[in-house]
Amino acid sequence: MKLHLNDSFREECGVFGIWNHPEASRMTYLGLYALQHRGQESCGIVTLHEGMHLHHKSLGLVADSFSEQNLDRLKGSAAIGHVRYATTGDNLLTNAQPLTTNLKEGPLALAHNGNIVNSKVLRESLQQDGSIFQGTNDTEAIVHLLARDKAKKFEERLINSLSKIVGAFSLTVLTAKKLIAVRDPMGFRPLSLAKLGESFVVASETCAFDLIGAKFIRDIEPGEVLIIDEQGMRSLFMPKSDRKAQCIFEHVYFSRPDSVVFGKGVYASRKMLGKILAQEAKVNADIVIPVPDSGVAAALGYAEESGIPFDMGIIRNHYIGRTFIEPRQSIRSFGVKIKLNPMSSLLNNKRVIVIDDSLVRGTTSKKIISLIRQAGATEVHLRIAAPPTIGPCYYGVDTPKKEELIASNQSIEKIRDYIGADSLAYLSTNGLFKAVAATEESFCAACFTDRYPTPTKT
Ligand code: AMP
Repeated sequence: MKLHLNDSFREECGVFGIWNHPEASRMTYLGLYALQHRGQESCGIVTLHEGMHLHHKSLGLVADSFSEQNLDRLKGSAAIGHVRYATTGDNLLTNAQPLTTNLKEGPLALAHNGNIVNSKVLRESLQQDGSIFQGTNDTEAIVHLLARDKAKKFEERLINSLSKIVGAFSLTVLTAKKLIAVRDPMGFRPLSLAKLGESFVVASETCAFDLIGAKFIRDIEPGEVLIIDEQGMRSLFMPKSDRKAQCIFEHVYFSRPDSVVFGKGVYASRKMLGKILAQEAKVNADIVIPVPDSGVAAALGYAEESGIPFDMGIIRNHYIGRTFIEPRQSIRSFGVKIKLNPMSSLLNNKRVIVIDDSLVRGTTSKKIISLIRQAGATEVHLRIAAPPTIGPCYYGVDTPKKEELIASNQSIEKIRDYIGADSLAYLSTNGLFKAVAATEESFCAACFTDRYPTPTKT
């Protein structure tokens, strides 16, 4: 029997783009490699060579999807790329991005991170008007809107089309002449700009710049349409939104800790989440341990603030695939054991504080706590470096439905009882905003507050 190891909600997507580099496809490959944590189901690269597009798209991881030959075939000095986890649409190759098509002015490729809230309505009305969709993902609506818009200039048509979209979109777009980077007016998802010698680079996260030696310049602004071509770089702006809605969950879980997201280092945010958690939810114990890897920085912060020693009490196996063949005779907590192994040499006879970044359905925590007890812990106190997850995400994070989010319908005491911890505490919403230096007018924290920055039903 095959066991699916990732039954909680999963990552979204990552985008990349480069202009004026002799090895554009290879740089994009490396950029996607650095962004792999944002999506593991499919990936793709499109290059621009003599006014034409060349592409390679594949299901699977970046390292398994491209060969030397593929990358050599992807000639050209400009490229965009995408890694995908299917937040909408099935996991089919037709849905793999960048999307590629031809418009009246030539080839168009588009890579999207985010989720379009009104995609169903848009799709239905476009289909009513005669559009034929190739795949089931929400991004295709953008291309149809673009093809139908009557404005003369491409940039104008792009802005007109994107103005009809409700939701989250950080895009890299490649035409026959330009690389364009766009961030929606509320700036849900990150997108940054860097320079590499004479080349410009855009990426979902700055960790992609570090790998290729590019120097961070700035974030693409919410609502900005940044155009890079032979004339240089210029910006247009979409109609302004009266608020921003940068995703706070990028800091809590999604982004790599070595990235700077929305102007703040993710590692520092996570450590601060742990420090504030220690101030808010103290408990006497002998050792602080993280759920690796997502709880590491917060656990360090918690230990520093509380003065309780930190140790890596649980060791993670980094070499597991997406599924695993189970032994015929079932082994208790097999799914989590294959990933995480608590060490009794550190935990035996100890009062243990376990730190994780978030609690979704509670199934992982329940299993981890039972394993920690089996390793000899006398007490297990779970501390979550975020508030209770109570709302699904409509902006590009594939969350379970509201009914499946344990904190949306159970009290903290009931959750504690279910997961089998001696105590359970979450970070407060104020603590979360403080740690990330965020305000509710500039960030979206709907998964924790249930207050959404846009209509969610259209
Ligand atoms: P659960 O068992 O459903 O409570 O899952 C909680 C675990 O899922 C925590 O260890 C989190 O680090 C992890 N997690 C939270 N958000 C995500 C996500 N978007 N993708 C994958 N894992 C996640």
